[in-house]
Amino acid sequence: MSDAVECVVIGGGIIGLAVARALARAGREVLLLEKERWIGQDTSSRNSEVIHAGLYYPQGSLKAKLCVEGRNKLYAYCAERDVPHKRVGKLVVAVNDDEIELLRRVIKHAEAAGVTDLEWLDEQAAKAMEPDLACVGAFHSPSTGIVDTHALMVAYQTDAENAGASVVLRSPVMGGKVTPQGFTLDIGGAEAMTLEAKLVVNCAGLYAPSVARTIAGVPAATIPQDYYCRGVYFTLAGKAPFKRLVYPVPEHAGLGVHLTLDMAGAARFGPDTEWIDGIDYTVDPRRGDKFYAAIRTYWPALPDNALMPGYAGIRPKISSPKEPGADFMIAGPETHGVPGLVNLFGIESPGITSSLALADIVAEKLASA
Ligand SMILES: Cc1cc2nc3c(=O)[nH]c(=O)nc-3n(C[C@H](O)[C@H](O)[C@H](O)COP(=O)(O)OP(=O)(O)OC[C@H]3O[C@@H](n4cnc5c(N)ncnc54)[C@H](O)[C@@H]3O)c2cc1C
Repeated sequence: MSDAVECVVIGGGIIGLAVARALARAGREVLLLEKERWIGQDTSSRNSEVIHAGLYYPQGSLKAKLCVEGRNKLYAYCAERDVPHKRVGKLVVAVNDDEIELLRRVIKHAEAAGVTDLEWLDEQAAKAMEPDLACVGAFHSPSTGIVDTHALMVAYQTDAENAGASVVLRSPVMGGKVTPQGFTLDIGGAEAMTLEAKLVVNCAGLYAPSVARTIAGVPAATIPQDYYCRGVYFTLAGKAPFKRLVYPVPEHAGLGVHLTLDMAGAARFGPDTEWIDGIDYTVDPRRGDKFYAAIRTYWPALPDNALMPGYAGIRPKISSPKEPGADFMIAGPETHGVPGLVNLFGIESPGITSSLALADIVAEKLASA
């Protein structure tokens, strides 16, 4: 069986759903294909659910720009669509004098990126906000928040469907080719078929580079090498010690073992960083041993045996551990020369925060296609 549609979005995570929403609202005929039985089962449900303020990303990067733009759009959207979220704020803490200088650098950097609401706190001021905190200084980011990611995805899906899009589950894109009219895609699942499409947006997350490699006619040199960096979380038995999110000074591949809260107020710590070869969500309970020492630098009262293995997420990296962290890659025809194709690669954090802004860019790239 063969069929035709104007636009196919591959992947029903938060990015694919946001892109399907933006394209459908721009008047496109959209079919979103998701390989699993449910939307958002990969990275979009294995993360910290933080609405990031945009403190750390390199100046001039897409991450810096889309985080700030996306965060503003996301707060407005969540309020309008009743998506559960809270502007809880976060403290980034220095636990020794050397880290004070690092924090001051983060503040300067964030201000240059347009985050102008950070407030410096000395030890007393930080403790007044969070009495159980140990630090020698900190800053407060009032525009950091948390969001119910699943509710957000359902809201994007509802908007997309109300604008005429179809979301089809259990439909993996197995491969395809570039044709003079656009694309032919091979769809697997119980009702395998081929599909003609004029436009394709590849939002397959961790699988995006491998999906791009299965589409004949996409130049291999424009598809980055994929790398996986796992982060595990441990949940805290008992009451959360803090009202706000608490982060240490950031490290190379992640943001350090930080405390986040979910919408019910439960605390979890993580994610750590571990470069792995394949997609494997196993949580090794032994990784918790290192968490105790890291957390006690800013929360000395963490009781023994209070942490329980939680879940793992995998950062869809497109730079190796030896390279500087890569930016989001929104690869349109100007990158690969294939009309009507946008590949989204390396959409790690702050992907949730940036989702609406990122989707707008994709829709703009395809506006004249
Ligand atoms: C540990 C961790 C913590 C994070 N914390 C935050 C945070 O606090 N705040 C923030 O803003 N961001 C955070 N992020 C980033 C955020 O989670 C991601 O940027 C976002 O979820 C990526 O969404 P996605 O739709 O691109 O990918 P995914 O959610 O992985 O979705 C891709 C979808 O494509 C589907 N798919 C794959 N191959 C095919 C195929 N061949 N055919 C059809 N479907 C296919 C998959 O099944 C999947 O549903 C974090 C990420 C990690 C790993």
